[in-house]
Amino acid sequence: MQRLGGGDAAVRYIRNVHTRILAVEDDPPIARMLTLELGRLGYTLLVVGTAGEALVQAKSWAPNLMLLDLGLPDRDGGEVLRELRARNDPLPVICLTARDRPVERVGGLRAGADDYIVKPFDISELDARIRAVLRRADRGAPQELVLGTLKLAADETRVLAGDASLPLTPRELYVLRR
Ligand code: CA
Repeated sequence: MQRLGGGDAAVRYIRNVHTRILAVEDDPPIARMLTLELGRLGYTLLVVGTAGEALVQAKSWAPNLMLLDLGLPDRDGGEVLRELRARNDPLPVICLTARDRPVERVGGLRAGADDYIVKPFDISELDARIRAVLRRADRGAPQELVLGTLKLAADETRVLAGDASLPLTPRELYVLRR
């Protein structure tokens, strides 16, 4: 359950704010859903609708992760992926594929996708995959998160308040590490 104001959801929200997601999706309802739901989880989102824009923004906006629809109006999403990898861009990519086109999944992964998710998908499943891919890629959260006078140390075992370390309960550690 996502509930802002609760400890774990609030910590996750703050972590997500530092994660820039470039969503490449030409279907307006899905683009709106991604903007709304991933925004609600705290992610910083930029949505583009073409392969051409995707390749431009992958370079200039410096996202942490790309969500890539494979069926785009100008070029196939797989070509975006191949071009990224051809220019040695290690940007983590999760492909969004249609349920009735399973071949796309295999093709997408072969072309260098980090994961794929089949439409229609649940936003909490997408969120979990985003976090898993970012953990693997180690391009997610910055080394140290700052919240007012509090800092979450890079090793995520303690919260720093000024020079003091706040002791965390096992439950709090568990929540922060997620
Ligand atoms: Ca599409």
